[in-house]
Amino acid sequence: MNVKRFPLSSQEKKQVESILVKAGKAKEKRDIRLITFGALGKLLTGSERTLIARLRSTNPATLGFKGRFFGIRKVPTDLVALRRQTYQLDGKAKKIETQYLPPAPYAAFKKLQQALRKETGTILFAGSGYRSPAYQLVVFLWNVRREHFNVAKVATKVALPGYSEHGNPKRQAIDFTLAKESSKKNKTTMFSNSREYRWLIKNANRFHFYESYPRNNKSGVIYEPWHWHYRENAA
Ligand SMILES: [Zn+2]
Repeated sequence: MNVKRFPLSSQEKKQVESILVKAGKAKEKRDIRLITFGALGKLLTGSERTLIARLRSTNPATLGFKGRFFGIRKVPTDLVALRRQTYQLDGKAKKIETQYLPPAPYAAFKKLQQALRKETGTILFAGSGYRSPAYQLVVFLWNVRREHFNVAKVATKVALPGYSEHGNPKRQAIDFTLAKESSKKNKTTMFSNSREYRWLIKNANRFHFYESYPRNNKSGVIYEPWHWHYRENAA
């Protein structure tokens, strides 16, 4: 695959910064995880909207991402909120921001949690659940800034809107968070060496959760042991 670069002009870099500032402010007033493209667009200038449109019309296959296109779906109205999740980060209690899941994966997740607790005495949290397609784009841009505007590099780690299982209620993804995490450890190593991960490998399928991005996956996505998706049928 001939991977193209996706250069951003200095003006576009400034637009990325500005979009992120506006998204950050919006976050204080509303739940940004559920924001629509319409609502996001209203916060932005014309040129910022043009950049959003450019990203939305990009085929991520040209950037090395080989995952499927699920389509841009409407934000579901029946999402269940997970408000009280607290894990330990570096030995201190840390609250996870409110997450959302459609009813079926929510119910399956609760059953998985119960079985895990019963069988191992430990617990996993939903660190990230549903993300609206517009929020997915905001997440993408956060990562673009963090990776010094290397869009192609981000494309193998974070899906563009319509390509993410986090925004696809028929194949809802959860990024699991361990009960105890350390910010000093490499996340991939920490998760893949955990007892919880070994338990997931053996048992998650019972609850209709499947690992999406194992090592050397066909989607061209980095190894993400914490990212599992729910689907009704194994097919
Ligand atoms: Zn994920």
